[in-house]
Amino acid sequence: MTNRELWSAAVAATVREYGLLPPSLKQRVGELAAEIAVVKEAYQRLATTVDAEGICADCRGLCCGHGKHHFTVVDLLGYLAAGRELFTPDFASPVCPYHTGCGCLMEPGLRPLNCIIFLCDRVEELLPGPDRQELASLEKELRRLYACLELLLGNRFANGLLITFGRAHAAGSRLFTC
Ligand code: SF4
Ligand code: SF4
Repeated sequence: MTNRELWSAAVAATVREYGLLPPSLKQRVGELAAEIAVVKEAYQRLATTVDAEGICADCRGLCCGHGKHHFTVVDLLGYLAAGRELFTPDFASPVCPYHTGCGCLMEPGLRPLNCIIFLCDRVEELLPGPDRQELASLEKELRRLYACLELLLGNRFANGLLITFGRAHAAGSRLFTC
């Protein structure tokens, strides 16, 4: 399977299994996904109070060089639960399949966990101590919410969507074992 085919099959399987969840479970997934989005937005707001424009322009976005497997089942559930239209990745992109010429295809509240919490050393050292502590608390909360979703759906989604789906497909198993 090409990356494009794998992506389409992984999205279709997640949409299908999400559609089959009992209403009460689907509602809980939606609540958790909404909480995750709020915390991600708060993290991003605080992290971008640093004026890193010059540093980032100089570095030219090294942090987005390996994003292919950052997008997980949980991140896809964020789109499904919010009823948001999913973007189309470009697997030929030299940067990240989820990157356009002017940045990430995903708004901060829907962006993968790894991407949201990544602070490179050059940017982190510009943040005051209290802000770093606040970011650490937000990261802890995000990890807790991701773990709650995993527990609810009976699977680990630490790997990217393509890997998680590829393994489930090869094993003939479902993504959600709840
Ligand atoms: S956040 Fe860090 S790694 Fe990413 S573009 Fe800016 S300086 Fe580069
Ligand atoms: S998903 Fe977005 S933020 Fe993450 S590496 Fe790709 S372009 Fe960068």
